[in-house]
Amino acid sequence: MSSKATLSAEKQGAKPLVLTTIEAVRDYRAALTAQGKTLAFVPTMGALHEGHLSLMQLGAAKADAVICSIFVNPTQFGPNEDYSRYPRTWDSDLQKLADGHVHAVFAPDETVMYPEKNATTIQVSGLTSGLCGPIRPGHFDGVALVVTKLLNIVQPEIAIFGEKDFQQLQVIRQFVRDLNMNIEIVGAPTMRDAHGLAMSSRNAYLTADEYEIATSLNRILYKVADNFRKGVNASQLIDAAKAELIGIGFNAIDYVAICNADTLQPMEQYTGDKARVLAAVHLGKTRLIDNIAVL
Ligand code: AMP
Repeated sequence: MSSKATLSAEKQGAKPLVLTTIEAVRDYRAALTAQGKTLAFVPTMGALHEGHLSLMQLGAAKADAVICSIFVNPTQFGPNEDYSRYPRTWDSDLQKLADGHVHAVFAPDETVMYPEKNATTIQVSGLTSGLCGPIRPGHFDGVALVVTKLLNIVQPEIAIFGEKDFQQLQVIRQFVRDLNMNIEIVGAPTMRDAHGLAMSSRNAYLTADEYEIATSLNRILYKVADNFRKGVNASQLIDAAKAELIGIGFNAIDYVAICNADTLQPMEQYTGDKARVLAAVHLGKTRLIDNIAVL
């Protein structure tokens, strides 16, 4: 698609342009640059919800144009994870994007993103040593690879990621800094539903009974944060939270942790430094993650 075609399509109305090739995205970016416009980028795996849309809205407030991507990235899923059943809802995603905030959607096939097996790995140490790192081996390598590729393709001034995936956000900040990528990484607050459950594409897996149970996760994390700030030891709070989660009906707990928000290293006592309570739990066939700040 030529730059001219891209721009005239962009002007046509609220419906976003759908770009499926790297060349089309490069043309789109070049056309914006030629107009002196800045671009914000929101990578997603689709099955869009209000959490995703809040990121796009933030992008619209920070840049002249917003592009999102919809790509279920195979390299960040483990062999026994939910890649094949991950919700793919292209038609309703496009409808949700027709609210005017998003000008273009990059929706590549797997063959566009991975035309051959990549020989390059981007591995971030330190931040990935705990939490989801050991439980999902290779996950953050897959995230780092796909986000690097997407950032190189889109070349935005700003890229926006949710605090919902807090460890992912910190990993992305780290490799963007380490690799001198000239992109501002913006973290956006977690959008929750009326019951406080963090919105997630994976919430679609929950049965009605499981949903009831799931809503207690955020309540328990807020309680942990509150008591930690009041001086209770982390280990005591974590043990109590795990027992409560299991008592309520969660099947298994990958972790409940209290960490320094920057280093993601465990904290035992509140020191006034930025702290974060993070958890990953299993409910039926669904794995849920959530985290909140200790304020
Ligand atoms: P995903 O499609 O799950 O890969 O998410 C795409 C982006 O949306 C990531 O940066 C997520 O952190 C972010 N995101 C997911 N859920 C939420 C939420 N409830 N609130 C804010 N951002 C979110």
